[in-house]
Amino acid sequence: MDRNFEQTDMLRQPSLAAAGAVLTIDLGALRENYRRLNARLTGGARAAGVVKADGYGLGAVAVAHALQAEGCDRFFVAHVEEGVCLRSALGDGPAIFVLNGLPPGAEGEAMVSRLTPVLNSVEQLAAWRAAAHRAGRSLPAALQVDSGMSRLGMAAAEVEAVAGDAASLDGVDVVLVMSHLACADEPHHPANAAQLLEFERLRAMLPAAPASFANSSGIFLGSAYHFDLARPGAALYGINPTPGHTNPMLPVVRLDARVIQTRTVEEGAGVGYGHIYFAAGSLRTATISLGYADGWHRRGAAAAFFGGKRLPFIGRVSMDSIILDISALPESRLQAGDLVEVIGPSQDVDQVAALTGTIGYEVLTSLGNRFHRRIVNG
Ligand SMILES: *Cc1c(COP(=O)(O)O)cnc(C)c1O
Repeated sequence: MDRNFEQTDMLRQPSLAAAGAVLTIDLGALRENYRRLNARLTGGARAAGVVKADGYGLGAVAVAHALQAEGCDRFFVAHVEEGVCLRSALGDGPAIFVLNGLPPGAEGEAMVSRLTPVLNSVEQLAAWRAAAHRAGRSLPAALQVDSGMSRLGMAAAEVEAVAGDAASLDGVDVVLVMSHLACADEPHHPANAAQLLEFERLRAMLPAAPASFANSSGIFLGSAYHFDLARPGAALYGINPTPGHTNPMLPVVRLDARVIQTRTVEEGAGVGYGHIYFAAGSLRTATISLGYADGWHRRGAAAAFFGGKRLPFIGRVSMDSIILDISALPESRLQAGDLVEVIGPSQDVDQVAALTGTIGYEVLTSLGNRFHRRIVNG
């Protein structure tokens, strides 16, 4: 038995030889993407690193270390616990913002790890103010205002109430005022300009502090959207922030799945669960070690690639396996143990998303924990 486990980002992972699939993460490409985003930013704006959901599934600690090497000193996570883990990995230096703010009662944990909550409501603000009072010192916070997404952040009336009550920010050191765009990936959507105006209006009521507005796609809406700090996630990880246009980012992720066995299927045979596919003629198939338990979406019609050939998925995606039609390959070209590409140069993250009825974000954050993870250019 192979005991050769390796450890990255707290995950036990199988060895390369034992793994059913290999996830390759190119940290050099990630760093280049970070540089490209910063090069796009104007007026002294800088990019933070959004590393929530374990760095969009790639490994928050490895990602954050790579970004730190590029001078990134501000990170965003969604949950307190993600912030606690990141703090212990990164040490004292960088600011770590918690996008969802703090659940009631989590203020102490956040303080111990010196997290900066994004305060999304007057309730969260009051709880943080009380924590500062108990601690006898001021505590840093970001204030999120809702400029039109109706998801998180203080509504206009709440912002006005805060602005009208000097005591409401007692002990709270506002280090950032932020808001989030609902339609940034649609540059012509009228909500973008409307949100921008509303963000300007609300921010003017609050204490002067650095401002943050743009996510990945927001960076490409132009300099009016840049403010002091951008918050890219997706684009760092190679997802196209400009849908419909050439991807200005480098791919970061590659996924190769192992062939378990190959076989010949006779004409008329049903293939996979539910027999939703029937062999119209004799065909050669390969079954690969990847399934919906690995985060591969069950719906849609993707393919694998090997030797320059497209090998379509046939039948249903199973929990741990997928069947490929490999008739396009010369006989015996593909063997058990070989790896076929399912995300990579032949079929990128955004294409996989389109083929499986989702978005690149969900493809990445769904990536399972049974892969052998190989970090390159780290
Ligand atoms: C997730 C998130 C981001 C990053 O968005 P991308 O589209 O991945 O760049 C930025 N800001 C907030 C508030 C978020 O929730």
